[in-house]
Amino acid sequence: MGSQYAAKRNFDFGPGNHNSVSNLSPYIRRRLITEAEVVKAALELHGSEGAEKFIQEVFWRSYFKGWLERRPDVWRSYCKGVQTDLEKIQADPDQNARLKRAEAGETGIACFDAWISELTQTGYLHNHARMWFASIWIFTLKLPWRIGADFFYRNLLDGDPASNTLGWRWVAGLHTRGKAYEAKVWNIAKYTGERFTPLQSDIASDIQPLDRSEPEGLPALQPLRRPTGPEENLPTALLITEEDCSIETFQPGTLNICSTGIVLASHLRSPRPVADHIKAFEAGALADVSNRLKINPCQINMRDPTALAVWAKETGAQQIVTAYVPEGPTRDWLREAETVLHEAKIPLCEWRRDWDAEVWPHATASFFKVKQKIPSILSSLEIC
Ligand SMILES: Cc1cc2nc3c(=O)[nH]c(=O)nc-3n(C[C@H](O)[C@H](O)[C@H](O)COP(=O)(O)OP(=O)(O)OC[C@H]3O[C@@H](n4cnc5c(N)ncnc54)[C@H](O)[C@@H]3O)c2cc1C
Repeated sequence: MGSQYAAKRNFDFGPGNHNSVSNLSPYIRRRLITEAEVVKAALELHGSEGAEKFIQEVFWRSYFKGWLERRPDVWRSYCKGVQTDLEKIQADPDQNARLKRAEAGETGIACFDAWISELTQTGYLHNHARMWFASIWIFTLKLPWRIGADFFYRNLLDGDPASNTLGWRWVAGLHTRGKAYEAKVWNIAKYTGERFTPLQSDIASDIQPLDRSEPEGLPALQPLRRPTGPEENLPTALLITEEDCSIETFQPGTLNICSTGIVLASHLRSPRPVADHIKAFEAGALADVSNRLKINPCQINMRDPTALAVWAKETGAQQIVTAYVPEGPTRDWLREAETVLHEAKIPLCEWRRDWDAEVWPHATASFFKVKQKIPSILSSLEIC
């Protein structure tokens, strides 16, 4: 997290050797460890100067999450677009064959084929490899960016609606409009320690950002959703999702809890099959929270949007409480479930972390706006 990280974090030494980065993303993404905890640990160990780079990277996650909260239409259009792109590709035998070769790691581009194998076998890719991979997918292989994002999302243990969708949009030139990320032969050779030196013909040069494919530009900025807090004495159903696996820090013990439930949401990541290692990781994360809280929660059926209301009613709950669920598949499911909850007069209350409340108001444009605020955000959160 200190000077070693700042100097070496861009090097991808390959599977089993990712020791210049933290490998913490599957845990931070599910808040098995919170952003506040890692940043505090980094500051204690390395001081504000030494830990600066690591802390900025953690803030990228929060920036992307806040940015998507302010522009939920970008998530909706991504989900619709994956469906449309899949239908189009099915109808195009040539593109379909190229997609199959890419997903099987049979393109003949050695680095790309190796990243396919690492991703599908381990559920992880180094950040730099994700950038090169996405750039080659979009500009060399000329495959639809959303199918690439979907491929990541179906295989990454840390798969996250905001970081993944916006990471791909950033590479494609849709996030910072007109500026796409170009993978370069020298850059791949240098930062893989020359494990790979692709041929120039393997990598597209003079690339054109995809911003023309979205001529209408970005949707307008929405106000942040204001969650309703719980009432202390009402019989309460506690709902735990993979969005926040440190729910005990909200002190659920102060509420009148009559039932606890979990949802397993990994299968909602994509219309296509999601890797088993992701499902196992999510189940493990939720088992870990349950052990910490010493509870034996009921598993709510996510295939039925009425199941949440039915479960809450059966257990006598008059409100459901959960940690804030940001834009993504679980929020989409909750939106459907909320219609039924409303009819049953059971409010859905959410705890939002101070971290999110501090960062998200600044996540309106580029990362720079958030980066500038890091010292004041950490000071208001008393993490310094
Ligand atoms: C195309 C693309 C897709 C991506 N998809 C995801 C995704 O689905 N889920 C995901 O968690 N990250 C995603 N990232 C961001 C980044 O690659 C990973 O968070 C990082 O590689 C995780 O490894 P680490 O924990 O060892 O990172 P470290 O370098 O140790 O960084 C520390 C922490 O900072 C955060 N972080 C670091 N870089 C970024 C970044 N660029 N954006 C957001 N947060 C960051 C993560 O929480 C990470 O755990 C994507 C990046 C790209 C370019």
